[in-house]
Amino acid sequence: MTILNADLHCHSTVSDGTLTPEALAERAKANGVELWSLTDHDEIGGQHRALAAARAVGLPYLTGTEISVTFADVTVHIVGLGFDPDHPALVQGLQATRGGREERAREMSEQLEKVGIPGAFEGALKYVGNPDLISRTHFARYLVETGVCKDTSEVFRRFLTEGKPGFVPHRWAKLGDAVRWIREAGGMAIIAHPARYDHSPTQEYALFSEFKAHGGEGVEVVTGSHTPSEYGKYADMALEFGLAASRGSDFHSPEESRCDLGALPYLEGRLTPVWERLADRIR
Ligand code: AMP
Ligand code: MN
Ligand code: MN
Ligand code: MN
Repeated sequence: MTILNADLHCHSTVSDGTLTPEALAERAKANGVELWSLTDHDEIGGQHRALAAARAVGLPYLTGTEISVTFADVTVHIVGLGFDPDHPALVQGLQATRGGREERAREMSEQLEKVGIPGAFEGALKYVGNPDLISRTHFARYLVETGVCKDTSEVFRRFLTEGKPGFVPHRWAKLGDAVRWIREAGGMAIIAHPARYDHSPTQEYALFSEFKAHGGEGVEVVTGSHTPSEYGKYADMALEFGLAASRGSDFHSPEESRCDLGALPYLEGRLTPVWERLADRIR
């Protein structure tokens, strides 16, 4: 059934969200979500908590994560759903992917210091719930707190994106490795919010083709990061590449996120939803 209020993409304090897994489960339930997944960046340390919290409120759950990948010099995110959260290939792959984050954060802080913003590393750390996962979002919150910018999107625009003074290029996982870790752990790999990448049409086609060749099976069509015309474009791409379609808010915080948990249009009936292929992995 394509008409299901599934929300298969969001973040907790275990990565760069501001709510705990427990608070997210309650919020999802209250918002009418019927199938939920917590997909923290490069991290599955919140999965057992999320599953327990989903059970406590009677919400069907799929395990989840969102892996940072570098493809054609651009950062791409691959969501994994329905895997065994204790599988060593996935646990070790994610651990390696998280590995460079602290060093990167120290370099970001040094660069910010040069443009007159001191103490950003320590400042960002105040917002970090998981010391293994310091992200640009935590820097953005600190720069808003200190009045350097009025909101987090201004911080990204002025400081934290390519070519700006707080941006440090980073090599993430390889596409094939990320897909393999998810598959070896019994899960389904899904291209997250494809409209957000700075790829040419040729590179985008290559991303979809290579992803499919590695055994990737799904693509996010309806997400908080897409416009309505992009829902249509990626619905067409899902059908063209024989990929199942996913739906998720990418909710991070009540204060920062435009799209709340579950507050999205349904998938179109012509699509095969990812949850049809994951039915035996729903807990
Ligand atoms: P990182 O994994 O440390 O590179 O941080 C990536 C995260 O930064 C994304 O998952 C988003 O939560 C956030 N982010 C990226 N671009 C923006 C933006 N333009 N505005 C607000 N948040 C953003
Ligand atoms: Mn994020
Ligand atoms: Mn993402
Ligand atoms: Mn996300």
